Amino acid sequence: MKPDHVADDLKNVLMSREEIDQVVRDLAARIDEDYKGRDLLLVGVLKGAVMIMADLSRELKMNVSMDWMAVSSYGSGTQSSGVVRILKDLDTDLMGRDVLIVEDIIDSGLTLSWLVSNLKSRGPRSLEICTFLRKPDAIKVDIDVKYVGRDIPNEFVVGYGLDFAEKYRNLDALGTLAPHVYQSE
Ligand code: 5GP
Repeated sequence: MKPDHVADDLKNVLMSREEIDQVVRDLAARIDEDYKGRDLLLVGVLKGAVMIMADLSRELKMNVSMDWMAVSSYGSGTQSSGVVRILKDLDTDLMGRDVLIVEDIIDSGLTLSWLVSNLKSRGPRSLEICTFLRKPDAIKVDIDVKYVGRDIPNEFVVGYGLDFAEKYRNLDALGTLAPHVYQSE
């Protein structure tokens, strides 16, 4: 079912709120198991990861710390180039910490690959990646992602933190946009 207020803007609903909740519960169960007894730091990548960070962290059965990073990735149009600038850095020292990067989506993987080498250079004890979504057909770099919520087709998606021109982030489902939305921009 398409949410009423954006029904005309969506082509398809890929995941309902119930499906999203199940994916988040499954990710949290695995993370709880793997990090039992450890002091985990979640690093959310702004802005897209806000929803998955909020839900995943509350689903975990252990106490975690949270910090945020904002990066901008230069590229043409919707293509990321891998040239990244830090807009907001972490407040936390990563030296000796168990760190889990929490991402909304891995598309080409270029931004994340840059982020991994940047954070690794800060001396964490461990560094792993959790992404809500991944587009296997779009990935351009070899990157080891431990936790993947859902693999999706190579289409532009919105909702659950993901935007188009800063809109649709608060959509309580994941969908693809109808062509008239991006053609009118
Ligand atoms: P990458 O460097 O992996 O190509 O780009 C990752 C970033 O591009 C994501 O964190 C997200 O902000 C944006 N992105 C990639 N694919 C999509 C998509 O399908 N929808 C939206 N809204 N953003 C996307």
